[in-house]
Amino acid sequence: MEKFLLIGKNLEDIEKFMIENNQSKFRAKQLYNWLYLKSADNFDKMSDLSVSVRELLKEKTRICSVVLKEKQVSKDSTMKFLFELEDGNYVEAVLMRFDNRANLTACISTQVGCPMGCSFCATAKLGFKRNLTVSEIIQQIFLIQANTGLKVTNIVYMGQGEPLLNFDNLISSIKIFREQFQIGARRITVSTCGIIPQINKLAEMNFQSTLAISLHAPDNDIRKKIMPVSKKYPFDELIKALKSYTQKTGRRVTVEYVLIGGINDSLEDAKKLAFAIAKLKSNVNLIVYNTHEKSDYKKPSKENIMKFKYILEASGKKVTIRLERGADIDAACGQLSSKMNTK
Ligand code: SF4
Repeated sequence: MEKFLLIGKNLEDIEKFMIENNQSKFRAKQLYNWLYLKSADNFDKMSDLSVSVRELLKEKTRICSVVLKEKQVSKDSTMKFLFELEDGNYVEAVLMRFDNRANLTACISTQVGCPMGCSFCATAKLGFKRNLTVSEIIQQIFLIQANTGLKVTNIVYMGQGEPLLNFDNLISSIKIFREQFQIGARRITVSTCGIIPQINKLAEMNFQSTLAISLHAPDNDIRKKIMPVSKKYPFDELIKALKSYTQKTGRRVTVEYVLIGGINDSLEDAKKLAFAIAKLKSNVNLIVYNTHEKSDYKKPSKENIMKFKYILEASGKKVTIRLERGADIDAACGQLSSKMNTK
C-alpha cells in the first residue's frame, strides 16, 4: 500500500489520517507542528510523540517524496539546492540573504523545465517535462528549512518554469505557505513571462501577493526576438492587462528587466521602456545578465547599466539593480538542474 505523503497536507487531512489510525486530534496537531513549524524531516526528531506513534508513522506515512541531491554554497552565502523528484527529474531552488536584512528569500520552481523558450534562459534549453505537484512545490521550502535549520521568510516563484501555467497548484501552494508556514501574502512574489489570461484571473481573484512581470524588452520587436511568448501575447496587450491588474488589486507590480549587452541595454531602450511603463503602477528591478556556458549573450557594460537606471529613475520609477547572487556557483535560473537533467 502506498504510504501517506505528509508534506502538502493540511491539518484536517492529517487529523483524518490520525483518527483513521486510532490516534487523537491532539497527536495530529503535534505531528502537524513538527512538520510545518519545526521542519522535522525524520520521525525520530518528533520527541513528544510516543515510540509507538512514531513507529505507526514510519510504517504508514512518509514525510517527503523529494530528495535533496546537492547543495552549493556561494562566497556571498547564497545557497543553491538541487532536488531529485520521484520520477528521476531534477528541479532547483536558491536561498538568498540580502545584506542588512533578517529576511531569507527562497526562489522555487513550479515546473520541470519550461515551455516558454526564452532565448537567454538555461531552463528553456530543457524544454518542458511536467508541472510540479503542490507537494513538490512545498517540499522545496520544507527541505531547505530542514537542511539549514533556518526559517524562510520570503518566497519568490522565479525558479524553473512558468508559474501561471501551473495555476491551480501555484494557488494551492501559496495557500499552504500562508496558512501552514505562516508566510504573509506580501512576502510571496510570483513571476510570470506574461500569460495574459492568467494575469486577468489573478486580478479577478484580487491577488494580494506581489506579481513580477519578466518584461526584459522595451517593445514588441525586441521582446519577440528573445521571448516567444510575445508572439501570442504582444507587448502592448500585456502592458494593458497589467494596468488593469494594478487597478483591480490596488497592488504595484514589479517589472523585471534583464539587461543583456547589445540586445536591450541601450539608452534608446531605456527611454522606450520608461515611456511604455510610465502609467503602470510599478517598480523596476534591473538584473545584470549572468553568462553561462550554453549562452551566446553578453553582460551589459557598467556604463550602460548605470545610464539605464538613471533614465528610469528620472522618469519617476523606483529602480533597484539586482546584485548578481552566487556568481561562483550555478545560481542563474536553470543552470544546475539543466546540467543534471541533460546527463
Ligand atoms: S525565463 Fe522563465 S519563462 Fe522564460 S524559459 Fe526561463 S523559466 Fe521559462
